[in-house]
Amino acid sequence: MTGERALVKTREITFARPMIGEEEKRAVAEVLAGSTLVHGPKAEEFERVFVLFTGAPQAVAVSSCTAAMYLAYLHFGVGKGNEVIVPAQTHVATAHVVEALGAKPVFVDAESRTGNIDIDQIEAAITERTKAVAVVHYLGLPVDMERVGAIARQHGLFVVEDCALALGSFYKGVHAGLWGDVGCFSFYPVKHITTIEGGMLVTGRSELAERARRQRSFGVDKTPAERGRPGQYDVIDLGLNFRLNEPQAAMGIEQIKKLPDFLKRRIDNIKILREGLEGVEGLSQLAEGREEYVSSAYCHAVLLDEELVTRKDEIVSFLRKRGVGTSVYYPRPVPHLTYYKNKYGYEASSFPVAAAISRRSIALPVGPHLSADDMRYIVAAVKDAIR
Ligand SMILES: *Cc1c(COP(=O)(O)O)cnc(C)c1O
Repeated sequence: MTGERALVKTREITFARPMIGEEEKRAVAEVLAGSTLVHGPKAEEFERVFVLFTGAPQAVAVSSCTAAMYLAYLHFGVGKGNEVIVPAQTHVATAHVVEALGAKPVFVDAESRTGNIDIDQIEAAITERTKAVAVVHYLGLPVDMERVGAIARQHGLFVVEDCALALGSFYKGVHAGLWGDVGCFSFYPVKHITTIEGGMLVTGRSELAERARRQRSFGVDKTPAERGRPGQYDVIDLGLNFRLNEPQAAMGIEQIKKLPDFLKRRIDNIKILREGLEGVEGLSQLAEGREEYVSSAYCHAVLLDEELVTRKDEIVSFLRKRGVGTSVYYPRPVPHLTYYKNKYGYEASSFPVAAAISRRSIALPVGPHLSADDMRYIVAAVKDAIR
C-alpha cells in the first residue's frame, strides 16, 4: 500500500528555473529599442553593480565563466610546458581552459567532508612546471582560501577561483573570488543569477583587469567610444571575442538586484532539507556552511550509503515520478571523463574521494523558485524513496 501511495505526485519541482521577471523583460526591451547592442553602458553598469555586491576591486564582464578563466590563464602566461593544479571534482570547464592553452591540468582529489579540493594533497602535486592552482567552491561551500593562499605564496603560484557556483559565498567575511588572484563567475541559466550565457572576472590586479578588457575584444586598444574616428584603433594584444552584450548586461543588472532575496530563499530552503534529512538511515550529507564559510547554497547534495548506490537510478526515477527533479554534480571526476582518461591514462581507481561523491550523490534543488512547502515535500519523497 505504501508503494502505491508513495507514487502519488502532487507537485512538480524542477531542479532549477531561471527567475526572469517583468523587470528583466523591460530592461532587455529598452536596450533592443536603442542602437547600442555591444560595447555599451549596460556592460559597464553591470560591472559596477557586481563590484558593489561582491566588494571586488575590479570586475570585467565576459561571455561566460569559461571565458573569464581562459583570459586569466592567458594573462598569467600559462601555456605549453606549464601545469595547473585542478580539482578532480568540478565542471570540465575548469580543466578544459588549461588544456586549451596547451598546459596540463594536474588533478587533485576532493576531501570527503565538503567535496572541495583536498588541500593536504596540493603540495605533492606541485612541480617546477606548476604555474597556478585552481579551486572550485563546490556547490557554493567556500574552500579554506587562507591555506590555499599560503601554499601558493610559498611556491609562487597564481590562484584561480572558479566561482561559478559561489555567487553569495563568503570566506571569513570576504566574498569568494577575492582571495585568489582572480575569481570567475557564471551566469548560465541554472546559476544563482542569469544573463542566459555570461560571466564575470574579478581581480585586484589592475593589469589583469585592463588586459582582460582588451582581450575579451580581440586585443583592440580602444573601444568604439574611445575612437576619435572610425578605424582609429590598433591591436596590441592577442584576444578573441568574449564580450557580454548589452541585452545580457541589462538582464544582469536586474538579476543582481534580486540576488539578496534569491540567496535568502536558497539558504532557508537548504536548512529545511538538511534538518529534515538529518539522521535518515542510508543517507549522509556534506558539511554545511558555518560562520567563516558562508555557502551560496547552490543545491543540497545527499550521499547514499554504498549499499544503496546500486539502486541510485531507481531512487532518482522514484523521485522523478513524485515530481522531484534532481541533478548530479558531477557525474564523474573530470580525469575519468573519456577525453582526459584517453589523453593521460588515469585509472578508474584514481581520485577515489571525488569518484565516491560522483557515484553516491544526488543533488536536490533549493532554488528561489521553490517554497518551504516544496522542501518538506522533497524531504518526504526522499524518505519514501529510501524506504
Ligand atoms: C557552470 C560552471 C562552469 C561553466 O560556466 P560557463 O559560464 O558555462 O562557462 C564552470 N565551472 C563550474 C564549477 C560550473 O558549475
